[in-house]
Amino acid sequence: MKIAIPLESDGGEPRVAATPETIKKLKALGAAEIAVEPGAGVKSGIRDSDYEAAGATISADATRDADVVLKVRRPSAEELTRYKRGAAVFAIMDPYGNEPALQAMADAGVSAFAMELMPRITRAQVMDVLSSQANLAGYRAVIDATAEYGRALPMMMTAAGTVPAARIFIMGVGVAGLQAIATARRLGAVVTATDVRPATKEQVESLGAKFLAVEDEEFKNAQTAGGYAKEMSKEYQAKQAALVAEHIKKQDIVITTALIPGRPAPKLVSAAMVDSMRPGSVLIDLAVERGGNVEGAKAGEIVEINGVKIVGHNNVAGRLAATASSLYARNLYAFLEILVNKESKALAINWDDEIVKATALTRDGAVVHPNFQPKSA
Ligand code: NAD
Repeated sequence: MKIAIPLESDGGEPRVAATPETIKKLKALGAAEIAVEPGAGVKSGIRDSDYEAAGATISADATRDADVVLKVRRPSAEELTRYKRGAAVFAIMDPYGNEPALQAMADAGVSAFAMELMPRITRAQVMDVLSSQANLAGYRAVIDATAEYGRALPMMMTAAGTVPAARIFIMGVGVAGLQAIATARRLGAVVTATDVRPATKEQVESLGAKFLAVEDEEFKNAQTAGGYAKEMSKEYQAKQAALVAEHIKKQDIVITTALIPGRPAPKLVSAAMVDSMRPGSVLIDLAVERGGNVEGAKAGEIVEINGVKIVGHNNVAGRLAATASSLYARNLYAFLEILVNKESKALAINWDDEIVKATALTRDGAVVHPNFQPKSA
């Protein structure tokens, strides 16, 4: 079995899909050859020589004849021309709304697996890239907000007088939101948080923050079996928006993390709410790449409106590339571990495994995932 680790072709992607640690483990798993493209790890602090020391070879043509390609982002059409038919490709595939790109992978004859479709079951936790990356994004959001904010976060009692603690409001308490709350608390801010899933209330409070939400009947039932948020009714959204509008006026920093899988991000902060904030306040929109939670947020930009900054960094986990790569690489390794036959040391994919079923996008020239079937099918 040959495994390839390409240099990410998207210049905005600093992460890499394997580290020296996982190269060693992949070798032990049975990879006869692991080829890494030159410079693949540089932006994550890994030199070619580090990969070589772990047992990989460095090759500009790493993907030629590879049985397995480990990537961060979906391969481009140009990249696919260099992959072997039948190769298994693992990446964050961004499948929603990108059906033509999925068809291109099917046409190239590769078996493509979308790491972000990993089911939220205990066995797959170690493979869950959404969690590993969202946790880092939540942490980094607070660090970015702190850097943009012109004041200190903790209350300080100094000889020159007392400085009040900053007020931070976290919207969306999934993996990213929980880490944002914990980080903001560690830095001494006064933290409040909101979510549409009732289970989050206890989590927020256990981290020493205050929960804010309209807690009516709809709220009490607002969670899917998979543990994700449901889209809320227009009525609920209006009631919640009124509560949030009052609250936001008094906040120094707002961090939004609200997502609904497969749908555009819900708009939670209106232009009027932004306008109600004091100059010097900061909003960080972690959902900006999926349309944004904050009106006026722009992907890849910091927008300033009347002294209020709306920060829309892309790929926030990638802003901690070394840590993000090390966790992402471990997620990939854990997935491969269940796909390789220990005796034959070859890929032996059980297509009936629920983890495989949930993540497999293409196989044998066709798009196989039920969520992404061609419209005419
Ligand atoms: P996510 O990234 O899909 O969304 C972030 C948060 O935004 C969620 O908490 C969601 O409820 C919230 N949200 C959506 N719409 C909102 C709105 N209109 N207003 C306010 N908040 C809104 O979520 P996630 O981080 O992937 O986590 C979802 C859940 O899955 C969590 O409970 C998490 O602990 C759980 N989880 C389970 C496993 C596992 O069991 N293996 C792994 C990872 C996460």
